[in-house]
Amino acid sequence: MTRLLAELSGPAVASRLTAGSIVVLPTGAIEHHGPHLPLVTDALIAEEVATAAVASAAATGLDVWQLPTLVYTKSDEHHWAPGTMWLGTEALLATLVDLGRSIAATPARTLVFLNGHGGNTALLQVANRELRRRFGLRTFSMAAGVQHAGRGVDGEPDESGLGIHAGYSETSVVLHLRPDLVDLSLAERNVPEHLAAPGRIGFNGAPVSFGWLSDDFGPSGVIGDPTGSTADAGRRFFDDGVASAVESLREIAAFSFTAPAATGSASGSPASGRPASGGPASGRPASGGPAPDGRASGGPAGAGAAGVEPGSADVDESLTGTGKGTGVGMGTDSDSERATASEVRS
Ligand SMILES: [Zn+2]
Repeated sequence: MTRLLAELSGPAVASRLTAGSIVVLPTGAIEHHGPHLPLVTDALIAEEVATAAVASAAATGLDVWQLPTLVYTKSDEHHWAPGTMWLGTEALLATLVDLGRSIAATPARTLVFLNGHGGNTALLQVANRELRRRFGLRTFSMAAGVQHAGRGVDGEPDESGLGIHAGYSETSVVLHLRPDLVDLSLAERNVPEHLAAPGRIGFNGAPVSFGWLSDDFGPSGVIGDPTGSTADAGRRFFDDGVASAVESLREIAAFSFTAPAATGSASGSPASGRPASGGPASGRPASGGPAPDGRASGGPAGAGAAGVEPGSADVDESLTGTGKGTGVGMGTDSDSERATASEVRS
């Protein structure tokens, strides 16, 4: 059975998805990755990790569905390089809001961004709250999980913890997935070693972050060391990323904003792989839940008109189209502020 949402018909989405369904949106990038990797690197990795993780999670009983990959995203750090195709901050946030609205028009109430491009991370976190407040969706974002800095042992290059772009791990993963798209003869080391010195300013997770463009570190577009990359290492990184994503999906399925009722089994046990009854915070009934074959029991096809509840509306339409203005990233967590579903049906 397909797990690609876009391969279903509209009525099938209405009948097969439930409030317990998880929708995964892979987010990639089309951006410069040095002379040795294709522009599609991040989109390829996000899509392949998502495809494998969704299939694996579905095989263990999770009701998870994959959307087509969003390939044009926030690649402004590579704006200077021909071939980079990027959306501005406002355009991307508006796109994510519109997609969230569309997902809220299905029975599903959980959206997961599976992200292959670090430049998207901050904005996805903003979108998580925006979609929570405006549409009542449960929203999550997570990395594709294939990044590993080369350690300088076992044939790995030493990236001094700075292999963040087109370096050892990304190059290895593309060698695993699409070796025909990699030209290792053009791979060059470009590690800004001086940033590895003990200090407070750094890339990911450092106490002090900073604004940067990829050509701040030279003209190659690489930040890391792709030399020594291998398909074998790439397969390990890829498999790690998939396994991590499956675990994350399992935990997301069991996630609840409120403490589970103190009956029986361990609190929030992710091992069940099923959402707690009553699950998603929207409170929308699961309409009897799907039969094992995925079909809704009873109701006529199209019943519920793709999950749009009567009289519901996006209460914050003034933000649509710009994504800027009040409240972005500062919304409260108050459930009272959110709409119960989408205003849109198509
Ligand atoms: Zn990349």
